Amino acid sequence: MNIDLHTHSNRSDGSLTPTELVTRAAAAGIEVLALTDHDTVAGLAEAQRCAAGHGMSLVPGVEISASWRAQAIHVLGLWIDPAAAPLLDALDSQAERRRDRMRTMCARLGKLGLPGAELLAVVEAHPGLPTRTHLADAMVAGGHVKRTDEAFRKYLGAGKRANVAAEWPPLDKVVGWIRAAGGVAALAHPARYTLSPGARRQLLADFVAAGGAALEVVTGGNGAQHVEAVATLAVKYGLMGSVGSDFHNPEHTWNPLGRSLKLPDCVTPVWRSYFKEATAP
Ligand code: AMP
Ligand code: MN
Ligand code: MN
Ligand code: MN
Repeated sequence: MNIDLHTHSNRSDGSLTPTELVTRAAAAGIEVLALTDHDTVAGLAEAQRCAAGHGMSLVPGVEISASWRAQAIHVLGLWIDPAAAPLLDALDSQAERRRDRMRTMCARLGKLGLPGAELLAVVEAHPGLPTRTHLADAMVAGGHVKRTDEAFRKYLGAGKRANVAAEWPPLDKVVGWIRAAGGVAALAHPARYTLSPGARRQLLADFVAAGGAALEVVTGGNGAQHVEAVATLAVKYGLMGSVGSDFHNPEHTWNPLGRSLKLPDCVTPVWRSYFKEATAP
């Protein structure tokens, strides 16, 4: 089974429309695809329609920004009900938080001598919920940096001069929103957070205590060594395992859609109760 439970469309910081994403995923042989845009479910209806036409299974998802010990942590909500009113209310508040933060980041860029108002206008013209990716892209387009990674390195990355640490809601609250919408909460790309091994274990313990059910064991760009270490953590904390490319853009040739994302056998697949055939030997 070719499955990818973490992707983005242009409703957040992906470059493809939901239709283009699903079409590309189908062509790449993906049979089960989750669309997990940052803090929005706006792309799901379109993705669902397109997936039906391709005979593909579309998992309704979202990637919600949370905070834990002042760190931004991403929680995937999988198999959520995108019409659940409490979740939609919560995502509205996330959207407002993102728009406020974008205004503050652009104001900071203005103080650093960049055209903050112009950059804000470019970001606000985009159809997706604003992220730092949009701002980095606007900075590249305006010729202020050569590449997006330079924008993060010089201005937007954690601790850099135009970075605004968003006040994301606490982890347990975010897990609660996902569960209340009938979804399964999976902690995204656990190796990407800057945490000591002890803090990482505490994060997992707190995630489990909050009702988190899965860990993203295989994620785009991770080496095989990483996968085994994260799989061991999943087993230790009684978490199921998820796989997801975190695909954003076909120009990111190092992270294509449709690459086989194989979960180690020691971990229970998060999709097992949804797709029983996937676990057949
Ligand atoms: P935000 O949620 O607004 O803080 O933006 C985070 C998004 O920025 C992530 O989901 C990535 O897609 C992107 N991102 C974060 N760090 C980098 C980086 N160093 N280079 C390129 N993209 C990045
Ligand atoms: Mn992103
Ligand atoms: Mn993420
Ligand atoms: Mn992501």
